[in-house]
Amino acid sequence: METKISKSAKITMKTKNVELVLSPPEPHFVGDGFRVHNFIPGGYRADMERMNPFILLDYGAKFYFSPTDSQRGVGVHPHRGFETVTIAYKGKVAHHDSAGHSGVIGEGDVQWMTAASGILHKEYHEKEFSKKGGDMQMVQLWVNLPARYKMSKPKYQSITNDQINKFELASEGGIVEVIAGEYKGTKGAASTFSPVNLFNVKMNNSGKADFSFPASYNTALLVLEGNAIVNKTEEVLTNQFALFQNDGEDFEVQSDNGAVILIMSGENLNEPIAAHGPFVMNSRQEILQAFDDYQKGKFGYLEA
Ligand code: MN
Repeated sequence: METKISKSAKITMKTKNVELVLSPPEPHFVGDGFRVHNFIPGGYRADMERMNPFILLDYGAKFYFSPTDSQRGVGVHPHRGFETVTIAYKGKVAHHDSAGHSGVIGEGDVQWMTAASGILHKEYHEKEFSKKGGDMQMVQLWVNLPARYKMSKPKYQSITNDQINKFELASEGGIVEVIAGEYKGTKGAASTFSPVNLFNVKMNNSGKADFSFPASYNTALLVLEGNAIVNKTEEVLTNQFALFQNDGEDFEVQSDNGAVILIMSGENLNEPIAAHGPFVMNSRQEILQAFDDYQKGKFGYLEA
């Protein structure tokens, strides 16, 4: 195939172009606390193989929750074989897991939980937030683990907003918060098991930023506020998701009304994916093993 591409074609293929823009699919509730639009795998073209290592993206678009004294959220459930990354944009998410980790993900904070060999956890609205009520806006992204790390020890990175390095865009255009990976020399707060870039871009009216990732990296963006204009031509509106082709390295994003944009780009693990509910492994055999281990209590214990 390589020989059919002329040298001049290679040069013109430098830009990473938008492959498709998705409007949010119908939302569903995860437990009674998270009203999410599932973009990955989503049943469109952004399936796990296509998006690897980003194997799930649940987006909780801004949604008002009325005050309550009850605990809204999702009860004790297992995970194995990947990492869950939770970003709170509005509202507060609380968490407990069977490895003894717990915490509150406040606005602007990130929780990077490596389930790996297996944990039980529960995710719910923080108590005071529930009592007062308010807008919730959040993202949960599942980052696949390379086969050799799937059965490693669980790990937990609680990353508050002040621990996230920020790159200042030119002409007071805004900031790029580097959650993972690297942006123009600014290093990410989270450690990862394979090359993963995850940035929150907070852009002013005149904001403009350029990005460069290897052509083979699977790359997408989600617009949480405002609009994004990609490569001067493709407009991506609030709550829309744009998937990039694997055709080039560079793209540019600007906004004419200010924006909050989540950008993800990661190396495709190129390993088989066997997924069933909360378990994502490499073979059906490993999925059956996960069910067996879960039933035998090998994921530990967590009080409901
Ligand atoms: Mn979970």
